[in-house]
Amino acid sequence: MNTQTLSPSYFSTPNTGRHAVVIGGSMAGLLAARVLTDYFEQVTIIDRDTFPDLPDHRKGVPQSHHAHALLARGQEIIDRLFPGIMDELRAEGALSACGVVPVAFVTPKGALPLLKQDEEFLAFSRFLLEWHVRRRLTTQTSVRCLTNCEVTGLLSTPERTQVIGVRLHHRDEDADSTHSVAADLVVDASGRHSKAPEWLVRLGYSAPPEETINSGIGYASRFYAKPSNFPADWQGIIINNRPPHNPRAGLILPIEHGRWHVTLGGFAGNYPPTDESGFLQWARDLADPSLFEAIRIAEPISPIRGYRTPQNRLRHFERLDRWPIGFIATGDSVCAFNPIYGQGMTTSALDALVLADCLSQQQRSPKPGFERRFQKQLAKTIAAPWLIATAEDLRWRSQGVTLSGARPRIGLGFLHGYMNLVLQQACEDTTVTRAYINVLGMTAPPQSLMQPHILLRVLSGALKSINESDVGAGERKTIFILRYLNGARRLALYLKVSTETQVAPRRKVPRSHLLMNCDQPRN
Ligand SMILES: Cc1cc2nc3c(=O)[nH]c(=O)nc-3n(C[C@H](O)[C@H](O)[C@H](O)COP(=O)(O)OP(=O)(O)OC[C@H]3O[C@@H](n4cnc5c(N)ncnc54)[C@H](O)[C@@H]3O)c2cc1C
Repeated sequence: MNTQTLSPSYFSTPNTGRHAVVIGGSMAGLLAARVLTDYFEQVTIIDRDTFPDLPDHRKGVPQSHHAHALLARGQEIIDRLFPGIMDELRAEGALSACGVVPVAFVTPKGALPLLKQDEEFLAFSRFLLEWHVRRRLTTQTSVRCLTNCEVTGLLSTPERTQVIGVRLHHRDEDADSTHSVAADLVVDASGRHSKAPEWLVRLGYSAPPEETINSGIGYASRFYAKPSNFPADWQGIIINNRPPHNPRAGLILPIEHGRWHVTLGGFAGNYPPTDESGFLQWARDLADPSLFEAIRIAEPISPIRGYRTPQNRLRHFERLDRWPIGFIATGDSVCAFNPIYGQGMTTSALDALVLADCLSQQQRSPKPGFERRFQKQLAKTIAAPWLIATAEDLRWRSQGVTLSGARPRIGLGFLHGYMNLVLQQACEDTTVTRAYINVLGMTAPPQSLMQPHILLRVLSGALKSINESDVGAGERKTIFILRYLNGARRLALYLKVSTETQVAPRRKVPRSHLLMNCDQPRN
């Protein structure tokens, strides 16, 4: 075996040191690396890919062929970590529009009101964002990238209490040649298929307990040129599936240079086809016709690409009794979601903020256990997006979605019932619409939907519609529980709030509302 050392040894006091190594140069790795540059003299990003010179797809991130929405919270954090980066994206042709509906949203309970956004709406592709983040980072002299290098394990002290670097294989060399890179801190950001549990086991630690929801998710995606005479204030659309009968979802995401990124998704082993007619048929069978109507008049500019991933997976690194000094894990390596909720990059950005917080505390008052504190704090941060993704996926249990490593959370039926009522109200009451969109955009926590003023609106709408035929047994039960628990009417009196005058009368949003007037001939 040919073992070389690529960098000098940088062993110093743990956690505030000279050299940090990040395994994986995708979004989680890049954002973590940005934070590490504030605390380490040198940061090395190691990736098994070579990075493209221009914004483009790359092999290690096959998901970039599928629509990637950066949620409002993620955009906010990335803008803070890289001031001015949004200007660069704009200059590269990212869609920038004001006074538009960023995205029309068709929920399982119907279409949400089309809310125009006063502030700028900025949209771009996954590969454009990643390329700019990487470019900004690698212009810093303290950052270097080792590309075409696959990390194969962790290096440790003889007593195996501390990780002191990584072992890697350069992909252009013989299969059995390895190198080592020493580090004070190793950050695993190698994604959904990370080998971190195996690496820990090889060092004598336990593998983290895992929670998985096997949702049988499939994607098929394609790029289109946006038709030139399409309504200017219509930017994109998300059409949710309708449990338990329609597993099809779809979205049109506007990106740079007047293009659309169109992704169709399926649940519980229902995979959207990747052939021309099957793709269109899937779009036609969505719960709302707008997406189909839009893409059949748009020009396809790429082949259709498929992607299948069985699970949402949460690794509970924070629950391990023993944990080595000098090693942490972040991003999809810890928590990989069903991508349909668009939370991955934003959660990686939140992970980076947790890292910044823990490193700053460690710098102010150094004490052992930094790594465990980080993993515990991360677990708390991940809890909300994990709840959103998994609670929604578990609506498909009767269709074969399964859970392992955990039991369904107590009160899940109540949660589903309450969310149905929220969606029902969000379709006609813009205060609830905004509250719901804020939760989806991760600018507000899920529990904000239980704030008294939202709860009252939801209940008031629910009580009015309780006798309507489309109110299911689950929702009725939820209304009953809420009334029983909170005494909804007494609560309303107590708070002296009446929503009567502010809530629009109950009505259905016409479907034509979504696509507006597009005078294109039908193919
Ligand atoms: C189909 C799909 C659609 C998605 N849509 C969205 C969306 O709309 N919005 C959103 O926010 N998120 C979305 N995501 C999630 C998002 O892609 C990830 O959450 C995000 O990229 C952060 O992941 P990561 O950096 O942890 O890992 P990844 O992006 O998977 O990157 C891992 C990196 O590690 C490298 N690597 C792996 N193993 C090694 C090794 N042993 N040695 C060296 N390098 C290694 C890889 O080459 C890669 O660069 C989607 C994901 C999928 C699969």
